[in-house]
Amino acid sequence: MTLIDEPRAVHAGGPTLPQERRLVTAIPGPESERLLARKASAVAAGVGHTVPVAVVAAGGGVVVDADGNSLIDLGSGIAVTGVGNSNPRVTAAVAAQLDAFTHTCFTIAPYEGYVAVAEALNRLTPGDHEKRSALFNSGAEAVENAIKIARHHTRRSAVVAFDHAYHGRTNLTMALTAKNIPYKSGFGPFAPDIYRMPLSYPFRDGGLTGADAAARAISQIEKQVGAENLAAIIIEPIQGEGGFIVPAEGFLAALVDWARANDVVFIADEVQTGFARTGAMFASEHEGIVPDLIVTAKGIAGGLPLSAVTGRADIMDSAHVGGLGGTYGGNPLACAAALATIEAYEEDGLVERAREIEAVLYRELGSLQARDARIGDIRGRGAMVAIELVDPETGVPDAGLTARVARESIARGVIVLTCGTYGNVIRFLPPLTIDDDLLVEALGVIGDVLAA
Ligand SMILES: *Cc1c(COP(=O)(O)O)cnc(C)c1O
Repeated sequence: MTLIDEPRAVHAGGPTLPQERRLVTAIPGPESERLLARKASAVAAGVGHTVPVAVVAAGGGVVVDADGNSLIDLGSGIAVTGVGNSNPRVTAAVAAQLDAFTHTCFTIAPYEGYVAVAEALNRLTPGDHEKRSALFNSGAEAVENAIKIARHHTRRSAVVAFDHAYHGRTNLTMALTAKNIPYKSGFGPFAPDIYRMPLSYPFRDGGLTGADAAARAISQIEKQVGAENLAAIIIEPIQGEGGFIVPAEGFLAALVDWARANDVVFIADEVQTGFARTGAMFASEHEGIVPDLIVTAKGIAGGLPLSAVTGRADIMDSAHVGGLGGTYGGNPLACAAALATIEAYEEDGLVERAREIEAVLYRELGSLQARDARIGDIRGRGAMVAIELVDPETGVPDAGLTARVARESIARGVIVLTCGTYGNVIRFLPPLTIDDDLLVEALGVIGDVLAA
């Protein structure tokens, strides 16, 4: 089912937007300036923004502002619009659902969309064991629920998270998140019984093997927490906000083995890595691991708010009736969007497309690195690739350069995001529907900015 050719009155997004970089004013232009002034006096200062524009439309791989500038989107709203912004499958499905009903609260009166999303998640996530899913609104809410479920199942309370982790901004997920500024500072006290363990970070841990890094973490877990007290280990298979850190081979598998041997629930937070982003439907597949629970959100619904916990039926079913839920979790519009989005990933070949994007990113960034020793590392998988910028002599992180490169790239019409514990990582998260020409043009802009 595609509705690409159907005219959609007024709606200027989706496939009707020219896929081009077009600057007609400085960024921000006068209309954007006006909105940003209103934002400053109406919106809480803690709610920041990266791209100083007033968005009026977005489609595929471009974002258009109120002054008529068209920016190439290498961020996808933080890995959300993997199927492209205003994907026509998604807009059609949501429009149809809008006409049917907008809400009942699934735990009051159930409907098929929610069940169909659960079935799709049970089918698509790693492992062919019996599974169940539960739907929520945000990544953080799903992470909270995964921990609730693991604690209820194991009757234990301790949780292990890792250095550089990011799991959200609610109280429990702030406790799981590693980085103080901006996520935690001044917002405590934080949820108790969370223990942070060392990661495998090949660029910065002296080439520790995956097995050795896992042994180091496991030894600390056994000494500081004790398996008998530990409900869950939660980890991002490739860390997102922490800097697109891909652990050394074998690290995750060793943790999974240890968790299984000790009846500890292994939770993969695939909120950022999920849904074709890394060139597999889920990043766990690259490591050959089968998590007990897997948390998804961002790329799940083409831009509508939805998240999920999926996992082993015995663990998921352990919570009592009424123990899981929420007013909006699995909202019918979001479920309709998710079904259309999943259809796009599967039927439009977007897993394969992510691997092609990986090849383009490594080729273009590799040729930049050959000319520029400040690019200390290129890493990531699929359409989730980053460069770490350092002082070439000392390897010290260069957050200042990173911020300048991102700011100037945006001013030249390319949306890029930064990340990393040390603020020195530029990450590339293009929509999987972007074409090579647009992607190469955008990376060319980054190269020009680095050279300038
Ligand atoms: C973004 C993110 C979250 C939090 O998701 P929200 O929808 O912002 O609450 C959790 N985990 C990871 C890995 C993320 O990237």
